[in-house]
Amino acid sequence: MAPTFTHEFNHAAFKGKVEVPVGLYINGEWSTSTDSNAKTIDIYNPTTGEVLTSIPEGMPSDVDRAVDAAHKAFNTVWGLNMPGFKRGEYLIKVAELMERDIDILSSLESLDNGKTFSAAKGFDVTESARVFRYYGGWADKIHGKVIETTRAKLAYTLHEPVGVCGQIIPWNFPLYMFSWKIAPALATGCAVVMKPSELTPLTALYMTKLFDEAGIPAGVINIVTGYGHTVGASLAGHPNIDKVAFTGSTAVGRKVMEESSKSNIKKVSLELGGKGSNIIFADADFDEAVKYAAQGIFFNHGQTCCAGSRIYVEKSIYEKFTEAFKKTTASLKVGDPFESSTYQGPQVSQTQYDRIMNYVECGKQEGATVITGGKRHGKTGYFIEPTIFADVTANMKIVREEIFGPVVVVSPFETEEEVIEAANDSVYGLASAVFTTNISRGTRVAQALKAGTVWINCYNELHPQIPFGGFKQSGLGRECGEYALENYTEVKSVQINISGKCGLPV
Ligand code: NAD
Repeated sequence: MAPTFTHEFNHAAFKGKVEVPVGLYINGEWSTSTDSNAKTIDIYNPTTGEVLTSIPEGMPSDVDRAVDAAHKAFNTVWGLNMPGFKRGEYLIKVAELMERDIDILSSLESLDNGKTFSAAKGFDVTESARVFRYYGGWADKIHGKVIETTRAKLAYTLHEPVGVCGQIIPWNFPLYMFSWKIAPALATGCAVVMKPSELTPLTALYMTKLFDEAGIPAGVINIVTGYGHTVGASLAGHPNIDKVAFTGSTAVGRKVMEESSKSNIKKVSLELGGKGSNIIFADADFDEAVKYAAQGIFFNHGQTCCAGSRIYVEKSIYEKFTEAFKKTTASLKVGDPFESSTYQGPQVSQTQYDRIMNYVECGKQEGATVITGGKRHGKTGYFIEPTIFADVTANMKIVREEIFGPVVVVSPFETEEEVIEAANDSVYGLASAVFTTNISRGTRVAQALKAGTVWINCYNELHPQIPFGGFKQSGLGRECGEYALENYTEVKSVQINISGKCGLPV
């Protein structure tokens, strides 16, 4: 049995002791690093800034062990050796166990990441279980096509699992990103070596108990906690990993892509940063647009890759909008993530807090106006007031760069052409939204926006069935939906000569 982190929760929605195994989960067993230089990594409570526990630092030698275990499982008990319907049953069982333990998982997520318990329960854990159930349904429906050529030939394709996948995830949606990666990989028959963020590993570690309980064979899922420059880089560069799936910043995504081509040519999928534009026309349902604008940026404390961090408002309603948006924003309660009335908890870490506050200072220095917020909230932990900037210009850093915090810029526009150009003026292309009651305009603008997701009259709505991913420097490939299966399958063409004769000149 692994050493455990034990925490006694005592909040309105859940009281009880939770035990999380703390260790490297390789081949169904717990261990610490085989590297004598490995240390431990402290895990902080972002609400207080205090250390909660520490986890083992994994090292490249541990990645090697995990990759070996994954290959063994893939070649014996998983991959083509485990029928799809059976893999699907495992995934659905995991979904059921997550739903059974929803208060535990939500409490851990809130404690570790700082997101509110209500958001963790209502969104992260609920949706993560749905992702497992959704891909459980796909597991026995992954098949190729019969292809017509000539009467002398029967040709068909097989969609085979890629093999062993390295998966690297960030801290903003620790369990949700974990599910987006592991569920489609397992559904297709791949085995995985997962690296959670070194900031937020607790739900990933708890999930190992559920995988064991569901009976998933040892070695199919391996979890190596550790830092990006060691464990992450080793996964990206490993010669025996067939595919790497990464979610995180564009800067690190670039490194992952580079590493992944050095030792072998891995399949690569990347979910990277964003600077979402949210366009509000004068004919939009005003009250709904204001609410969605707030949710679009402040959901998950602004730590959302698709956050609507650039709001463009048609000039005729700009003053009215900024007034209403300021009122809504100022009313969002910042504080203890376990209080049911709290909308926004702390940012995840001191580093992120400092980074965001630097952007706030930079915005002020560049001449933008703070309409509301712009300061620290409280005395302990990593809390930042929801912040709106106006009077911005297109070349300001706060308009161009991903802040990844509760900071938004608002600008007026006059014409549809002008706002499309402004919205597309970004190296990112992850998500955008348009608010209008004119269906033709909504559809036209959606077509013109260069983004992997365009919401019309809503924001931040994600479903396991709907593909998600980026144009431009926001990524490669799509997660969720049927599209994600392509990340984890190879297409094999089989041609059968049914004529019995040689078809080529000899
Ligand atoms: P990050 O890029 O710093 O880290 C992401 C993961 O990569 C972590 O597990 C980290 O340890 C690891 N890593 C760091 N250096 C590495 C290296 N050299 N090689 C391999 N792995 C390495 O990002 P973050 O701060 O954890 O997360 C925030 C970023 O993630 C934001 O840019 C956000 O937009 C992006 N994100 C994107 C999506 C999406 O779906 N597009 C979703 C969530 C977050």
